[in-house]
Amino acid sequence: AREWHLAARPQGWPVPTDFALVEAPVRTPGPGEILVRNTHLSVDPYMRGRMSARKSYAEPYELDKPMLGGAVGRVVASQAEGFAEGDYVLHFFGWREYATFDAKTSVKVDPNAAPLSTYLGVLGMPGLTAYAGLTRIAEIKAGDVVFVSGAAGAVGGIVGQIAKLKGAARVIGSAGSDEKVKLLVEEYGFDAAFNYKNGPVAEQLQAAAPDGIDVYFDNVGGEHLEAAIEVMNLHGRIVVCGMISQYNATEPTAAPRNLAQIIAKRFRMEGLLVGDHYDLQPKFVEEVSAWVRSGELKYRETVTQGIDSAVDAFLGLLSGDNVGKMLIKLPE
Ligand code: NDP
Repeated sequence: AREWHLAARPQGWPVPTDFALVEAPVRTPGPGEILVRNTHLSVDPYMRGRMSARKSYAEPYELDKPMLGGAVGRVVASQAEGFAEGDYVLHFFGWREYATFDAKTSVKVDPNAAPLSTYLGVLGMPGLTAYAGLTRIAEIKAGDVVFVSGAAGAVGGIVGQIAKLKGAARVIGSAGSDEKVKLLVEEYGFDAAFNYKNGPVAEQLQAAAPDGIDVYFDNVGGEHLEAAIEVMNLHGRIVVCGMISQYNATEPTAAPRNLAQIIAKRFRMEGLLVGDHYDLQPKFVEEVSAWVRSGELKYRETVTQGIDSAVDAFLGLLSGDNVGKMLIKLPE
């Protein structure tokens, strides 16, 4: 079976030669373990951080070892109580075709309750990130004006729609192409959206938010964050979820240069780490899956095929090839 190893730590933008697709033996499960054939692999922006040696909230990937990541797969052999052949599980041993691991580190998922891919997207980690960030960190309330960057991505698209469903007065999104902007307004129901590549973010945001904003859900950092601070209303909230514009930077970045406004405007800025909020999971799944079923919340996925495509999918994610959640589908 094949698995992706980190062959070299990327300097700046990762390149294909930083990765190697390696043939490895499939290990028979021992007591308490299951052998899983992966059907869906996730690629996520945080993985870029794990490719660096610098310690962060997730451990760095080891060189010449299989990388870790979210995945869904089918149990093909089980030595664990409560797990049978044919069950599907959500687990962390992605980036490979087969994995043998302690069953307790996975959770069973029901392919009849929702498409398997959604456990990695709208009903999984990215969905919970959106939900926790808005409800817990931003403490969103009816009447808020909400701005979200990375708005056509896995997290951002859900943020904007949940904000509307929670009574936001106006939801504004930014994304990196005109097609994405069209999707936000026409399909996701955003009130306004702009392509940040079409001109300065500050100008475009000011035009979209004539009365300022109360909440900024930041997926991007840098120029976006500075622009959001500039139009932030009194007692606004900034959820710092991601800063993808800086993940491949080789030098420290400048913006935001206007952070001193936090005093006059008394806004609150707080980092979000989804791992802190898994206690919200049942409430999140109940509320968001109902919106998905009723069609009130729409989601997109960009799916590449086969283990060979995983690195291209990851590199594509960093440069905006995806609409919604970026995934790799492996054969059943
Ligand atoms: P996305 O599906 O949003 O994919 C990443 C997107 O980022 C791309 O599609 C691209 O879209 C955009 N992008 C890339 N470079 C830039 C740039 N320089 N400026 C602006 N946009 C850029 O990924 P996710 O939804 O999974 O993650 C979104 C953010 O949330 C990331 O920053 C991620 O790190 C963070 N995150 C944080 C978590 C936490 O617990 N704190 C948990 C999950 C995610 P475009 O075409 O619009 O440029």
